[in-house]
Amino acid sequence: MQAEIITIGDELLIGQVVDTNSAFMAQQLNSVGVEVERVVSVHDDAEQIAQALDDALTRADIVITTGGLGPTKDDITKHVLCNYFHTRLVPDADVEANIRRIYADRPQVLNRLTETQWLVPENCRVLQNRVGSAPLMYWHLDDGRQVFCLPGVPYEMEIAIREQILPVIKSQISNLKFQINHRTILVSGIPESSLAIVLEDWENALPEGLHLAYLPKDGTIRLRLSGYGVPTELVEQEKAKLMTLVREWFVAEEDKPLEVLVGERLKALGKTISTAESCTGGTLASMLARHPGSSQFYWGSVVSYDNSVKANVLGVNKQDLQTYGAVSEQVVRQMADGVRRLCGTDYAIATSGIAGPTGGTADKPVGTVWIAWATPQGTTAECFHLGSLREQVIARTCSKALIGLLHRLA
Ligand code: ATP
Ligand code: MG
Repeated sequence: MQAEIITIGDELLIGQVVDTNSAFMAQQLNSVGVEVERVVSVHDDAEQIAQALDDALTRADIVITTGGLGPTKDDITKHVLCNYFHTRLVPDADVEANIRRIYADRPQVLNRLTETQWLVPENCRVLQNRVGSAPLMYWHLDDGRQVFCLPGVPYEMEIAIREQILPVIKSQISNLKFQINHRTILVSGIPESSLAIVLEDWENALPEGLHLAYLPKDGTIRLRLSGYGVPTELVEQEKAKLMTLVREWFVAEEDKPLEVLVGERLKALGKTISTAESCTGGTLASMLARHPGSSQFYWGSVVSYDNSVKANVLGVNKQDLQTYGAVSEQVVRQMADGVRRLCGTDYAIATSGIAGPTGGTADKPVGTVWIAWATPQGTTAECFHLGSLREQVIARTCSKALIGLLHRLA
């Protein structure tokens, strides 16, 4: 079964908003064995929307649109679909009740614009939007093709896909033979091209229907092994071979952000962490605190950008700062020990580096970064050279710091 996605909105095409809806939907559809063949973004423009639908329906079994369902003049998707399916808008009592229920909890009152939200095309099927006023609409064509029309607001779309749309799609493909299986392995510490050479023979011998993709990011590589229409056991078998080949650089088996993996491991161990950040300026703190439940393991940070903060707050020896400089093993170790002591955590990470574009010297060029890990077993530090672009240096430092911690938690 094949799907195409049409995201609708001027904001997507002027670069004001990044189309995250299609990435989410593609993930979800893949997880139930539906292949996404194409994603298209179009303006809030009647002709473009109708044309995109026409195109998609020549190829796909399922077409999903998002966006343009609001009550304002710029949102026209519902009217376009109404014309497209030769019907008219009629009030829907269930949608009205749903909207009244939602508005009962809101400070705003219903007005004549929001009241248009319970008008729906007469010949579509309607599902209720649990969290927003735009109803979910879909058409089941005589030949089995389907068009789903969802709101653009990402959290409304996500709840709709998970709770309403996937169950509908799944019920139709429960006896589907075709399976899509993705397995992801995270590795670090080897360049992509070198890894490709290590894996060359195995990759060339992969059975038909299996495919390997390399996804590099911030000094890590995600290896995604995908099986299309092949038994799960075969995917598992090849994944086991792959694991053996990459053992030296292996970080994790799941496709999750590093800070989530760190959090899961710390929670499982019942341990806590703090960070002392110079060159990363709080990025690690923000990554660690971003996910729900982080208060169970993440206790706090000191953003010690200036040397005075390294000395006065973290207790780094002023003479060492003078003698070795802020970007040094001596200092970064004291930063880690200092924040661990201050916060009373089991573990601590410290970063100090030259993110650039200025500040580099002959013996410490831009991209030189020291990272220290303070653990109950002692404190260790490592020096890295992480490129010359500021953003890249910061992102890679965070990756290295978290991977280093994962190894120390293993
Ligand atoms: P509602 O009826 O709840 O207003 P809608 O269907 O009219 O929803 P839009 O008005 O098009 O949706 O967009 C609502 C918000 O969702 C906007 O902030 C928009 O930028 C964002 N949005 C729309 N499409 C996408 C997308 N593909 N990816 C990420 N964000 C999106
Ligand atoms: Mg819009």
